[in-house]
Amino acid sequence: MRQLVLASKNIGKIKELERLLSKYASDIEVLGLNDFPDMPEVIESGDSLSQNAWLKAKQISSYSKLPALADDSGLFIDALSGAPGIYSARWSGYEGSDPKQRDLLNISKALSELAETPVGNRGAQFKTVVAFYKPNKDGSFTEIEQTGLLKGQISQTPIGNFGFGYDPIFIPDGFKETLAQLAPGVKDEVSHRGMALRAIAPFLLDHL
Ligand code: IMP
Repeated sequence: MRQLVLASKNIGKIKELERLLSKYASDIEVLGLNDFPDMPEVIESGDSLSQNAWLKAKQISSYSKLPALADDSGLFIDALSGAPGIYSARWSGYEGSDPKQRDLLNISKALSELAETPVGNRGAQFKTVVAFYKPNKDGSFTEIEQTGLLKGQISQTPIGNFGFGYDPIFIPDGFKETLAQLAPGVKDEVSHRGMALRAIAPFLLDHL
């Protein structure tokens, strides 16, 4: 089996990548950070999604001695000059460990900052950068990054129970529903992360 480490503890993300790659090849095993419980946490100190994705991919590959794939994503709201961007996960300042609470506080911050912004001026994009890093036997490295983008609008109230993060307030272009109203398979088809993973998949198959 060819092995790849995904820089995530999220079983949903690991399964999503495995499903995607299994469409092309049946000999790839995707490991996650749960398979390396002693690995030190990577500090996301970069100034961009790309820098953070590379920090994670390189450190995880160097620790695990395996090829690594890392993604970093964020929501960029036009009327807020691109905020929260790379700070999307902890934008509200919540320091606790309950992801649902964190998401609720982030959503309520977004809606309150846009309270005076009319429909038609609430454009936003989700962006993902995925970075693949593989040390070669001769000391060289194989590396590539791909980007995924999903354009849409921020709704006026949260709707829907699927997904995570800002999904309940994001209406993708071409849809009337928020991402949190779309079944997970449908979201995979249109999402920034799905787009970036589909773009990088052929390269992974050739270089693992
Ligand atoms: P990560 O880099 O995938 O961990 O994403 C960072 C943060 O961006 C998450 O904690 C969410 O707040 C937000 N985010 C990223 N992708 C999505 C998405 O697909 N839906 C909703 N929120 C997202």
